[in-house]
Amino acid sequence: MTRAYLDHNATTPIRPEVLDTMLPYLKESYGNPNSVHALGQQARAAVEAARAQVAALLNADPEEIVFTSCGSESDVLAIAGAAQRAWLASSGERRHVVVSAVEHEAVRQLTTGMRQRGFDISIVPVDGTARVDPAAVRAAIKPSTAVVSVMHANNEVGTIQPIREIAAICKERGTLFHTDAVQSAGKLAVDVRELGADLASISGHKINAPKGIGALYVRKGVALSSIVTGNQEKNRRGGTENVAGIAALGKACELARKEREQHVRELSALRARLEKGCLKHGGRVNGHPTERLPGTCHVSFEGIDGHALVIALDLEGVCASAGSACSSGAAEPSHVLKAMGLSQDWAAGSVRFSLGWGNTAEDVDRTIEILGPAVEKLRKAVVNSKC
Ligand code: PLP
Repeated sequence: MTRAYLDHNATTPIRPEVLDTMLPYLKESYGNPNSVHALGQQARAAVEAARAQVAALLNADPEEIVFTSCGSESDVLAIAGAAQRAWLASSGERRHVVVSAVEHEAVRQLTTGMRQRGFDISIVPVDGTARVDPAAVRAAIKPSTAVVSVMHANNEVGTIQPIREIAAICKERGTLFHTDAVQSAGKLAVDVRELGADLASISGHKINAPKGIGALYVRKGVALSSIVTGNQEKNRRGGTENVAGIAALGKACELARKEREQHVRELSALRARLEKGCLKHGGRVNGHPTERLPGTCHVSFEGIDGHALVIALDLEGVCASAGSACSSGAAEPSHVLKAMGLSQDWAAGSVRFSLGWGNTAEDVDRTIEILGPAVEKLRKAVVNSKC
């Protein structure tokens, strides 16, 4: 059975060019980049070349890029690193952190733990489209605020946040601003200077590089407490560098930078086609109507079980995600859908399709073809169960 993979917000396939770039560092060029011999210097050259490629995608300077193990670690280094540093520098006075209600689980769990350890955490709400109001961020900032973190684009419904406005408020109020750009990199322009971010996270496996590699942009002059201690990455992140992963991330960033505009045009056309089909089958599209990631289509079918729909699609070779479950797998609306105020009935019947590199109009048409009867069958099952 040929598969249609429509789950790119979960992870993406590794592009062949990316795999070719990383393989030598898993085979013959296995040196430690901190070694002075030739093998070590080959590895160092690969790491620094990749740093320049990542920086070019973000319009940053190479020395502003810190390699990490994933997007989650980048988020933790940014937020906990900034907050801890401010706490230490102010003898505990600056211990306030502001985040939005729709941040990734990495940020949610981090801030929950930080609150238990004495940090003061404010959670800014979103509207029915999952957008943060910059005025709410302004209202949440206090003299004790160390860092504000609002994601660039949401992983579930794809809503894009007004980052420039929020960053400008943070600058005016003298607080650091971090954005989680894990889902937006490669799909939106993530120009850190133009956005005004002090810190920005990205992850390899969302942009056709492997899992287990990420990066954090740290604006020159911003000091963080390190989370993984050690000498590497100029003392900002310890641990011997994942050279193959770093080389892969660099290549993926180069491809994303060169191809983004064309890619976005293609994704937008495919998503429009998919949404038309979903609407035809009685679906309702969630998230912001215009400020939304080009490949993300989060749709609800009232009264059915989104998990059952994902399984029905999978049996026919279509890979998507249930749009409602929180990561524990519990059948309750995710924190994002709750924050948006989606009713239980609509939230439970949600599915997320996320398009990416390699998807075709045939993938979309096949999905729509399978979706109609699958939704009908589940609707009938609900009616029968109530009889
Ligand atoms: N932030 C967002 C918005 C994400 O979607 C994800 C992954 O789904 C992460 C952070 C975590 O990235 P990683 O899986 O590389 O830790």
